[in-house]
Order: sequence, then C-alpha cells, then structure tokens
Amino acid sequence: MKLEKPEEVITRLKDIKITVGRTGKITPNAVLEPVRVAGSLVSAATLHNEDMIKNKDVRVNDFVVIRKAGDIIPEVVRSLPERREEHSEAYVFPTLCPVCGSQLVRYPDEAAHYCINQDCPARVSESIIHFASREAMDIDTLGSKRVEFFCEQGLLKSVEDIYHLKDQRETLMNLEGFQEKSVDKLLEAIEASKSNPLEDLIFGLGIRQVGKKAAKILAHHFKNMAVFMSATKEELTAIRDIGEVTAISILDYFQNESNVRMIEHLRDLGCRMDSDQQEITQSLFTGKTVVLTGSLSLFTRDEAKEVLERLGANVTGSVSKKTDLVIFGENAGSKLEKALQLNIQTMDEKTFLEEVNQFENQ
Ligand SMILES: [Zn+2]
Repeated sequence: MKLEKPEEVITRLKDIKITVGRTGKITPNAVLEPVRVAGSLVSAATLHNEDMIKNKDVRVNDFVVIRKAGDIIPEVVRSLPERREEHSEAYVFPTLCPVCGSQLVRYPDEAAHYCINQDCPARVSESIIHFASREAMDIDTLGSKRVEFFCEQGLLKSVEDIYHLKDQRETLMNLEGFQEKSVDKLLEAIEASKSNPLEDLIFGLGIRQVGKKAAKILAHHFKNMAVFMSATKEELTAIRDIGEVTAISILDYFQNESNVRMIEHLRDLGCRMDSDQQEITQSLFTGKTVVLTGSLSLFTRDEAKEVLERLGANVTGSVSKKTDLVIFGENAGSKLEKALQLNIQTMDEKTFLEEVNQFENQ
C-alpha cells in the first residue's frame, strides 16, 4: 500500500487561543486565516502544548505550514521564520488560567499544563457537557451550546444543577429562544435521565481513565454506587480489564470530598445508584469468552450479546486462543474459519437459541 503524503498548506496564524478541558487540561489552539486543506476549510489547528510551541518556535502572526494529521485534525507542521516580521517575539505560554485566573500547574513528566481549580467555570461547564452527553446520561435536549448558555446565565453552576432546572421553569421560559414546549421537552429529558443505568452515571462522572467500557465493567461488577465508591485498590485491580492506573485514578476521584458530595446530591435528587443488571443466570456460557460472527436471523447482534452477558459470558470481537466459543450465523467467514483452525468450540444460531431457552426458562 502506498501512503500518500498529506497535503500541506501555508497560512497565517492570527492568534493562539487557550482552552480549558474537563480535567483542567490546557490546550493551546492556533487561530488561522481560513484556508482550504484536503477539501475542507480550516480555521483552527491544535498546538498540543507549550513544548510543541517552543520546539517549533510558533509565534503569533507567523506564516505556518499546516496539514491534516490522519486527514482529520489539522496540525501546525512548522512556522516559516523567513517570512516573519522584524519585531516578532517568541510566544510566552500563560502562567494563569485564562478563565478563572488560577496559577497553572505542570506536573513532572507531563507536557500539558492544568488548571487545578475544581470550581473553574470552564471545567464546570465541560463536566456538565460530558455528564449530559449521549454516551453518558444522554440528555439530548441539553447539548454543549445550551450548557454553555445556561452556565453564562448562572442557571448551571454544577452537574447537580441540571436536576434543579425544573425549579427554574419560569426563568427558562423567559430565555430567548425558549417556549413552553421546548422547556417541557428539556425538563422531561432531564427527569428521564435519572433512571439511566448505573454505567451511564459512572461514565458521566468523568473519572480519568474510566471510559465507556470501563464504566460498564465497573457497574456490572459492583452493581451499586456506594459499593463501587468504597472499593479498595486490590478489589479494583482484581477486575478483568481494570489496571492499576485506572484503579489509582478511581481512588483519587473518590478521595476528593467534593466529588463524593456531588454523588450524594445526585442520589438525593433521585438519580439511580444501582444496576438494573439481573443476577447472572448460571449456564454453559457462564465465565466463557464468546465471539459472535456471521449474520444472525433470530437475534440482533445486541440482543445476542445482552443474552450472553446475562448468562455470564464475556462477549468479545475477535477470535484468539482465549476464545472459548464462537456462535455463528449465516455467511460466517474468517472468524469461524479461525475458530475451527484453533479447535475452538462452535455453535450455530439455532442451537444457541435452544440453549438460551433452556436456561432462561428455568
Ligand atoms: Zn481555571
């Protein structure tokens, strides 16, 4: 396969803008004179961190070469000092958070700076955006633009405030662009999110290292927020797929009293704190690593996966020596072949259904 060199384009860097992420991470971004790269108009590019700006000696008003890294996120390749104005000065990385003014911190071995003020408005709004996002609590009427707007209006000062919005119905209806109907829709979606599964809530907390998959594993394992919160490092690392780094990050998160208080508030406000996962039914699938392949006709993929998980199986995507069983539907290809090669047990969909019925009707 021939790798094509990405298209490189020259434009002017008008400014360097600093954004503060949910974890307090500071990201410098280049504001560019809009230019076409690989078919799309680009007006911003990431500069990653202080070291990158220093190493590439990127300055405000420089002409810079940009390209799309992996053709997705544009990046600044280098600056062109030969085209620089005479009185140009090297960029000085800020020492204070541009949003809350706190002293920025750079930890040893880390390239990024952080705003470590938990109450930094930028961190608060990013946390709320994450909490309400589709993969977390999935409050579809509360997207990032609205969160930012509500934060500006002083309606949201914390994650918990989402569930206090219903007490502000009048205020909401008086906001520009809101009517009774849209306010009702917003509040209904917020109320509905309270009964989301525990894994959504755990993911929504935004604990570092705890992505969607880890949140699911943790919810499945502990089944209850209070039990999860009191887990020790040993208990956490004993779980398959939870490593030491993740365990430490979880412990750190719960060490912080304001995080614990927030969860208690959410509980008091009616957010569900336990798992709706049924007890696992012991079956011939329990404890087995199972792969589904081919097109199933009696189940959708998700249904089959859910059934298997309820019966205690761990469903994975690829066949390896660790696979115990491959369940196959029509037109199964390489995965089934590999299973046969590795002498892994296989089962057709019809037999699978018979087995499931047997266990589920117990
Ligand atoms: Zn800040």
